[in-house]
Amino acid sequence: MQHREAFVARFGREPQGSWSAPGRVNLIGEHTDYNSGLALPIGLPQRTYALAARRTDDRLRVASLQTGDLVEIAIPQIAPGVPQGWASYVAGVAWALRADGFDIGGADVLIDGQVPLGAGLSSSAAIECATGAALSGLYDLDLLADDTDRAHLAVLCRRAENEIALAPTGGMDQAASLLARAGQALLLDCRDGATRLVPFEIERDGLVLLVIDTRAHHALVDGQYGARRASCERAAAALGLPSLREVDPARLDAVLADLVGLLAGDGPEPPEVVVRRVRHVVTEIERVQECAAAMTARDWEGVGRLFAASHASLRDDFEVSCLELDLACSVAQDQGALGARMTGGGFGGSAIALVPEAVAGPVQAAVTEAFAAAGLTAPSIFAAHAAPGAG
Ligand code: ADP
Ligand code: MG
Repeated sequence: MQHREAFVARFGREPQGSWSAPGRVNLIGEHTDYNSGLALPIGLPQRTYALAARRTDDRLRVASLQTGDLVEIAIPQIAPGVPQGWASYVAGVAWALRADGFDIGGADVLIDGQVPLGAGLSSSAAIECATGAALSGLYDLDLLADDTDRAHLAVLCRRAENEIALAPTGGMDQAASLLARAGQALLLDCRDGATRLVPFEIERDGLVLLVIDTRAHHALVDGQYGARRASCERAAAALGLPSLREVDPARLDAVLADLVGLLAGDGPEPPEVVVRRVRHVVTEIERVQECAAAMTARDWEGVGRLFAASHASLRDDFEVSCLELDLACSVAQDQGALGARMTGGGFGGSAIALVPEAVAGPVQAAVTEAFAAAGLTAPSIFAAHAAPGAG
């Protein structure tokens, strides 16, 4: 097979195996993971592959078919920001395994990622989790054995991203990439890491989930992500709570009124802005619960309404949408989608639309046309189903 030949061409030896992990798309529950909230991702059919072979020294040599280069580093030299660039996502996993007490040696690793990079579909978790699966396989760590082991590996892959690649993301992406199941969404409770599967077999009901990669990547992403996290943390601290998860949704209006007084004066943004950020987080966590219930009841119109409400909240209260995401969602809704919303961190990336099969084609055509009419880069649109986690 092609991958094997590519490995031999890079490393002059045979791989010992091939592992893979999927990208993910979050159905609902955005900017909730770092607030100890709920999210509801599915694994994508697009996967990142890691072919690998053990080495007798403690060096890592990693090559990616997407970047074309080969990076070499000794495991003890891996540190925050070292190596730089994409290889940190691979090296970080080796570092995290060692930091957790696993006595792994070196490896040659070839990456082939079919998850679009930087599209909000978590190519980063896919590359980390594929690497984690590969190192576990090479060194008999058995970290894919059951959901408890997989959840443990997810934590290590998140550490790789946070501490070595220096991307301050929540834990949803790695959990999805490792714990996803075919035909099911993963209801993830980020307070305690608990997961529950929720049926998501929309084909049976004549529906399609379209993923619309807007191809937009607005430069504000990193700074704004950090700013939103900081606002949430500031609000929780002012309320004397460990996280916004602890806000009682039934008392939301009263809590928000109190918050204005508690915040007065200090901080980088006016209290009214922080109040809107909190309102998004608290209502979004409720929407995840309602969405899981609607999916279980196969109430797809209800799911669609929740998608639309989530998008409005992200656009108006959390302010992480952008022109391209708003356009994709509004055109999809106008063309008969049951619901559409931005997914992922925002400021570009992807949107999803839940559509009756018969309008999938028209929605694709109309979104593509609207982007062209607005002078935007053509979006990439595909139908997704819930695919299994790393293996
Ligand atoms: P997303 O996770 O939404 O795709 P991120 O910015 O979190 O976006 O992660 C994208 C980064 O992950 C890339 O810029 C690159 O550094 C790394 N990456 C992911 N997949 C690959 C790959 N197949 N080859 C090389 N680097 C990759
Ligand atoms: Mg990512």
